[in-house]
Amino acid sequence: MIKTDVIIIGGGATGCGIARDLALRGIPHYLIEKNDFAAGATGACHGLLHSGGRYVVNDPDAASECICENRILRKIAQKCVEQTGGLFVRLPGDSKLFRDRFLKSCEEVGIPAEVISPTRALDLVPTLNPVLEEAIKVPDCSIDPFRLCMLNAVSSRNTGGGILIHHKVIDIIKEKNRCVGVKIQDQFSSQIKEIRARLIINASGAWGDIVARMGGSFVPMTLSKGSLVISNHRLTNLVINRLRPPSDGDIIVPNEAVCLAGTTSIPVSDPDTIDVDPAEVDIIASEVESMIPAFGTTRLIRAYPGVRPLLKAETDDSRAISRGFRIIDHKNGMFSILGGKLTTYRLMAEKMTDAIIAEFGLKTPCTTAEVPLEGQEELSGYPLSKRLKNLDDIICECELVTRKDVERIINNIGTKYIGDIQHRTRLGMGPCQGGFCTYRALGIMQEMGRLTPSESMEVLTAFLQRRFKGIRPALWGDQLREEQLVEYIYLGLLSMEQKT
Ligand SMILES: Cc1cc2nc3c(=O)[nH]c(=O)nc-3n(C[C@H](O)[C@H](O)[C@H](O)COP(=O)(O)OP(=O)(O)OC[C@H]3O[C@@H](n4cnc5c(N)ncnc54)[C@H](O)[C@@H]3O)c2cc1C
Repeated sequence: MIKTDVIIIGGGATGCGIARDLALRGIPHYLIEKNDFAAGATGACHGLLHSGGRYVVNDPDAASECICENRILRKIAQKCVEQTGGLFVRLPGDSKLFRDRFLKSCEEVGIPAEVISPTRALDLVPTLNPVLEEAIKVPDCSIDPFRLCMLNAVSSRNTGGGILIHHKVIDIIKEKNRCVGVKIQDQFSSQIKEIRARLIINASGAWGDIVARMGGSFVPMTLSKGSLVISNHRLTNLVINRLRPPSDGDIIVPNEAVCLAGTTSIPVSDPDTIDVDPAEVDIIASEVESMIPAFGTTRLIRAYPGVRPLLKAETDDSRAISRGFRIIDHKNGMFSILGGKLTTYRLMAEKMTDAIIAEFGLKTPCTTAEVPLEGQEELSGYPLSKRLKNLDDIICECELVTRKDVERIINNIGTKYIGDIQHRTRLGMGPCQGGFCTYRALGIMQEMGRLTPSESMEVLTAFLQRRFKGIRPALWGDQLREEQLVEYIYLGLLSMEQKT
């Protein structure tokens, strides 16, 4: 049995941020994540490092947190952030009154906002709809959530923190009505282990209430599903928002060679049974097309949903719920942290760790706003510009991932999961969505003795099911044609019809 001071449940941005903060304050800890890092809302988000503009009119407190954290993350997480800048564009018919309130609120909250003419906006983003009436420039950025989580985990590992991915918390151990540990299950071998700790932090996002109930408490949450669509091209170098109250399909964020467009907001009750409705893709595509007309003719490669873990509120409109966060002390050895944004993950981690430090009777201050994330240099081979320099033995043609890259990840983290290689190299994230490179990567894993042939069939089957779920709502045009080819490969050549 393992013993530590703090157990963190959840390897999203919040959990990884807490692990790093505890590490920098010298507190022994274990982080438990049932999938890979960023498997929940963190990896299913736009990757927008908010300037605060999106919330400034309706939720100035959340907007103020966003601009502060935006400034900090640009400094400490340079290799995760692309300082794109952002535009809020006003199209014909969009309210001028809202525009005036937006500018006034930006001034009050301290968000730099510069009004620019349509000509200047079109110089910056030539793909914008030329009918736009004006644009407001703000310091929005694009941020890589996978890299952010992994880098936060590096600090934790460097100081001896335990990080267990692909381990699920299946129960909370209680003694005399106090939570004293967790039972975890290895998701590959099914082996069950116990870890004991002085305190437990529930940072499991949309699963927060499920986990809290294992410990005999509950957390008041509203779950809101949002769907996103990925375009095959980088249609804009700046984040583009529509200058109107937040609604469906009003954001598009550049990310590497593609763009992420979204989103929707639909109440859900179970974070494990969510799908993208093709109607959501239609709404997002038509709304984004009104800002960037080329979006209507660009190949869409995938759609995926995420669930926002929001604070419970007395409203049916999930967009009206505050993006602020809350820490709940269940007074039984467990704390829960919920709400917030990817943008504010560091602040959330700081406040959560402050509470733990106080509980332990210590006074160690937080330094995460000043100390840059460790390990950023090692990850600098990941951007496309670097990958273009090394084109030997390509495994994934869409994203230029080499055999060496795949072998390095398999060696470094000893994984049996194809998704882990994807998140660390972008393997399979291009137009064919892993149609060609997945079986090659599995072949390498077998050659390296990580998987038996029957295990690799299981992994492939699970991967294909997840993959099809993601591309199905976006299947038309070239994407549909390519999918037919991929279908022939797997169902025809590889005879997988019985399995999938
Ligand atoms: C569609 C969409 C778009 C968004 N866009 C943005 C954006 O652009 N910018 C922004 O700042 N914010 C955005 N957000 C909000 C942001 O994604 C979330 O607020 C944030 O990522 C939440 O992080 P988290 O770590 O608290 O939760 P999560 O990322 O959901 O992490 C919780 C983790 O807990 C794990 N877990 C659950 N149960 C268990 C268990 N029993 N055992 C072990 N592990 C468990 C899950 O697998 C998961 O990885 C968006 C959200 C959505 C849904």
